[in-house]
Amino acid sequence: MENNFFDLKINPENIPHALLIISEDWKETHNQVNLFIKKILCIADSESKSSCNKCKACLTFDVKSNPDFIEIKPDDKGKIGIGALRSDSDTSRGTINILNETALVSNAKIIKICNAEVLTEDAQNHLLKILEEPPKNSYILMLSSRPYKLKKTILSRLTSFSILPNFFNDRPNKFNIDESIFHIISKEKDIADLSDEEITSYASLYEETENSLDFYNYSKRRILDTWNDENLIFRLNILKNNIFLEISNNLNDIKIKNKTILSTLEQDGLFNFLEELISFQALLANKVAINKKIQLDSLFDLI
Ligand SMILES: [Zn+2]
Repeated sequence: MENNFFDLKINPENIPHALLIISEDWKETHNQVNLFIKKILCIADSESKSSCNKCKACLTFDVKSNPDFIEIKPDDKGKIGIGALRSDSDTSRGTINILNETALVSNAKIIKICNAEVLTEDAQNHLLKILEEPPKNSYILMLSSRPYKLKKTILSRLTSFSILPNFFNDRPNKFNIDESIFHIISKEKDIADLSDEEITSYASLYEETENSLDFYNYSKRRILDTWNDENLIFRLNILKNNIFLEISNNLNDIKIKNKTILSTLEQDGLFNFLEELISFQALLANKVAINKKIQLDSLFDLI
């Protein structure tokens, strides 16, 4: 999973008008996406890799008052309705208006939709109309960790890619281990708090878990024997990561030669598998009394 997209010199003309960023809802993800947005909005010389931090677009963006940018988040019911897209409840310009009007202080107009998977049906239909005829000089960035919940008609109009947090800026990777390990550990622990020994032990746990998936080709017996321990949550996150990658590759039409069962599943099968996995994780997270072995057993029955 390469993550060079945001580091590229940005020529707005080459950026797709509708982007889907597949990632967990992490602060680090938002930091990266916001730097990218600021760079597109910035009216200074586009030869530079970063925004100027001096122009009106940059300064207003920093204090969250750039009039050419809207960030849409789920409401207190955890949904994004059509009203949020139209900005029914406030006096600011609605999404459609911002996109259709000329940019006021910036180089472009941008809508960022967080947790896009919770867009309601109506909201998605509204958005689809925008995506079918994107207004000039406007960009829609959607962030989601579960993009498959969106309508296929919407997904088909988005250019998607996955991003990982920049852990290495904070903690140089002297262990020379795979970046995805940091990515997965971070779902449970703050990397900065871990000792070298703990990181090394996570790395070997990761390897063992990946082996039980790849080398044993998702053999249920092998998994039932080894997964049901105190590391189950970590192991499930590794599995989830693998499913994400597979879905992301499918969405981008990337065919990777891979011998595991996972790569033979159709998109719907992958979604189903992922949904079941997420329900299982929710039970674990809520400390519901369940028989983990039976849950694992029925989960792996799906593939
Ligand atoms: Zn600027």
